Amino acid sequence: MLDVQKIRKDFPILKREVNGKLLVYLDNAATSQTPKQVMDAIVDYYSNYNANIHRGVHTLSQEATDKYEAARHKIQNHFNAAESHEIIFTSGTTHSINLVANGFSTLLEKGDELLVSAMEHHSNIVPWQMLAERTGAILKVIPMNLEGELLMDKYDDLLSDKTRLVFCNHISNALGTINPIEEIIQKAHGVGAAVLIDGAQAAPHIKVDVQKLDIDFYTVSAHKMCGPTGVGMLYGKEEWLNKLPPYQGGGEMIAEVTFEKTTYAELPHKFEAGTPNICGGIAFGAALDYMNSIGFEAIAAYEHELLEYATQKLLDIDGLKIYGTAKNKTSVISFNIEGIHPYDIGTILDKLGIAVRTGHHCAQPIMDFYGIPGTVRASFCFYNTKKEVDALVAGVKRAVNMLL
Ligand code: PMP
Repeated sequence: MLDVQKIRKDFPILKREVNGKLLVYLDNAATSQTPKQVMDAIVDYYSNYNANIHRGVHTLSQEATDKYEAARHKIQNHFNAAESHEIIFTSGTTHSINLVANGFSTLLEKGDELLVSAMEHHSNIVPWQMLAERTGAILKVIPMNLEGELLMDKYDDLLSDKTRLVFCNHISNALGTINPIEEIIQKAHGVGAAVLIDGAQAAPHIKVDVQKLDIDFYTVSAHKMCGPTGVGMLYGKEEWLNKLPPYQGGGEMIAEVTFEKTTYAELPHKFEAGTPNICGGIAFGAALDYMNSIGFEAIAAYEHELLEYATQKLLDIDGLKIYGTAKNKTSVISFNIEGIHPYDIGTILDKLGIAVRTGHHCAQPIMDFYGIPGTVRASFCFYNTKKEVDALVAGVKRAVNMLL
């Protein structure tokens, strides 16, 4: 069991007021809040050992290098990667996906097929469209049903010996659906295709074992799991990372440079050009320590309880419709109320100190599928409480009374 009142004390921001009301923060799928343990790691870095890493002979540089590489090992252990050099520090999921998409431009031929799920964030669509334009590869979509579940029989039909890559999120940010990635991966491997799983929404809720699931590429943004913005990771199987060319050229990623020819550094440095977000990487490691100290099983169980409680309470409101009713889902509730624009509900909730997201959630194809401009999205974290859910429900009822 998780002690939510004790946990809340770790998050200073949860004490602040917004519009004269105690903040109720329910926009966790956009970014999570930061515990003081992670802030302490950031302050410690800038107070005590701020220096550029790798190659520095002085003490500060060595300390910063050790802590940065220790963070890489923490990430490796957390996701159970076989090698620490399979963990590439990036600025987040968007960067990770672009890195892989760029690399595949040297591996694809005209007519090769790429399969994308119908419920992707734009960052797992646009880089592949750009890749398809550059290479002549064809992008095909795995459709979904009204509950927000992928149609796996259609997936079977789409897979062929032309399929080179499949990309899909582990959990949808707009609907909360947990996708059957084990089956997706096994079937893709059956036709010799590689799989990239966008784990931006899953890593904050589920402990992922990349070896057990036989994942080729997995992407994470630290800011969605109690870490800072501007840092994340790409996990890639060594054999795949070795096949991909570097994404950016510059310092840190080279073995030797002459004006005639440059040779590249070994993994992971080949993909880490320039001075990285050193403090961010270290703080990412601190965020993983923090979440593991609570425990992912306890987190998942508690968030599921919040999801069920909130779903039931919200459905009591007349005219409220939830988008994304998959059997297997996490703590995201996307909804609309007949006759009211989501933006108006979000604005009234903000006046009550309640932060939710409104709009298309960077997933316009999902909104097109349902024929709506957007939704109101409440997304829960392990520091939220049932009392906060009650505040949300009361706020939505108030909005309905004012607007209808
Ligand atoms: N994929 C999913 C499923 C997401 O929820 C997000 C963030 N909303 C992203 C990708 C992009 O992450 P970032 O903006 O941190 O690169």
